[in-house]
Amino acid sequence: MSVVARCARALVDGKVLADFAFAMEHGRIVATGNAEEIVRRYPGAEMRIYGENELVIPGFVNGHSHAYQILMRGWADDLPFARWRSDALYKIVPHLTPDQIYWTFRLAFDEMLAAGITTVAEFFYVNGAGNAHAEAAIRAANDAGIRLVFARTWMDADYAPAAFRESIEDARSRTEALMEAFPGVHICVAPHSLHAASHDMIRAAAQFARERDCMLHVHVAEAQYEGAETLERFGATPIALLDKLGALSERTVAIHAIYITEDEKRRIADRGARVVHNPMTNQYLGDGICDVRGLQALGVTMGLGTDADVRPSIIEEMRAASLLQKIAKLDGSALGAQAALSLGTSQGAAALRVDAGELSAGAFADYIVLDVANVDPWIPLPNHVVYRAENGDVLETVVGGVRVRQKNDAPPAGALQALESLVTQLHL
Ligand SMILES: [Zn+2]
Repeated sequence: MSVVARCARALVDGKVLADFAFAMEHGRIVATGNAEEIVRRYPGAEMRIYGENELVIPGFVNGHSHAYQILMRGWADDLPFARWRSDALYKIVPHLTPDQIYWTFRLAFDEMLAAGITTVAEFFYVNGAGNAHAEAAIRAANDAGIRLVFARTWMDADYAPAAFRESIEDARSRTEALMEAFPGVHICVAPHSLHAASHDMIRAAAQFARERDCMLHVHVAEAQYEGAETLERFGATPIALLDKLGALSERTVAIHAIYITEDEKRRIADRGARVVHNPMTNQYLGDGICDVRGLQALGVTMGLGTDADVRPSIIEEMRAASLLQKIAKLDGSALGAQAALSLGTSQGAAALRVDAGELSAGAFADYIVLDVANVDPWIPLPNHVVYRAENGDVLETVVGGVRVRQKNDAPPAGALQALESLVTQLHL
C-alpha cells in the first residue's frame, strides 16, 4: 500500500518547495516531485494533505543520548562534572531494574518524538551485567515508534559501578546476541571512552566494528583534563591515541571532540571519522565548545546530540550550535541557519550512517510537520526553524511512514507513575 504526502510547503535540501509531494512504500520514500505528478503516479494511495500553515520537513536526528539521565533532572542540575558523575549518575544506575529502564526510556523517547526527533542514537551503558536492560530499552523504542541506533557500550574501568563492567568476551557476545535478536535496530559498538575502557577493549571493539561492519561510538575529548592525562600516561592526545589503537576510521563516531589539536582535526577528516556535537549538554556541564566551523571546513561529517537529555530538542541543539560558534569565533557568520539545519537532519543522519534526514527517494520515510501559521511572512523558513521554532510547534511526527506522535498526545500511560515511585524509592 502506497502513501502520498502532499505538502503545500516542504523543506527539501534546505529550500522551501511549494506543491511538493512524496510517495512512501514499506517505510521508505520511493518518489518525490511536483504534487500533481506524484498524485497521478500513485492512484489509490492513502493521501495525507498538509496545508499552507504546515511545513513538512525531514525528522530530526539525535546523534547522542543517554535517555536514563531524565531521572537526574532537577536534583543533579548544578554540580561540577566529577561530582555529577560520582554522586548522581553512578549512584542511581545500579538500582534500575529492566522494568524501570523500560518506562524511563519510553518516556524519554516520547518526549523526543514530541520534539520532532525521529532517529535517536542511544549510547547505552546501563548494562546491568547482561542484556535484559538493553532489551528493555530497545522494546521501549519499538513501542514508542522511534528509529533506534543502539550504541551498546563496552566498559571495563575499575572506577565504574560493577554493573557497568564487563570482560571483552562478555561485551562481544552480548552485543552479538542483540544484533541477532533485533535485526531492525542499528546496533553498534561503543567502547565508552579512553578512561572507562582499556586499550585492549578499545582495540577489540574496533575489530568488532570492522568484522560486523557496524559503527563505533566513543566519548572523546569532552573535558580538558583528558588530553593532559592521555598525553602523560600514553604519550598521545585523545584522537591520536584512538588512531594508534586502530579505532579512528570511517566507522568512528567521536562524541564531543572539544579539546583536540589542529593535527587531530585533520586526522579525523583524513580517516573519514564523524563527530557528534552536543552544545546544550556541553553548556550544562561546563565542558567547552567544539570547533564545528573548523571541522566543517575540513569536510568532517557531523551531527548533533541531546546527550544528558535535560530537555531533548534538536531545535535547541541547532540553535545552540549556531550561537556557540558565533560567540567562540566572535563572528556572527560562524555557523548559519542552513549549516545548523543540516547538522540536525541530513548531515546528522549521514554521521550515524542511517538513510534518513532527507525527503528524497530511498530515504526512510521519517518526517515531521511544523506549525508555521504565525511565522512572519518575510522570514525564510529554514531561519525560522533554527532561530525561532519550539518543540511545541511540532504537530505530527512520522517514522517509517507511520504517524507515531501527534502534538496533543498524552505521555505513555503508566510511565509517570512508574517513574515517580522509582525516584521516591531511590530517595533522590
Ligand atoms: Zn554522552
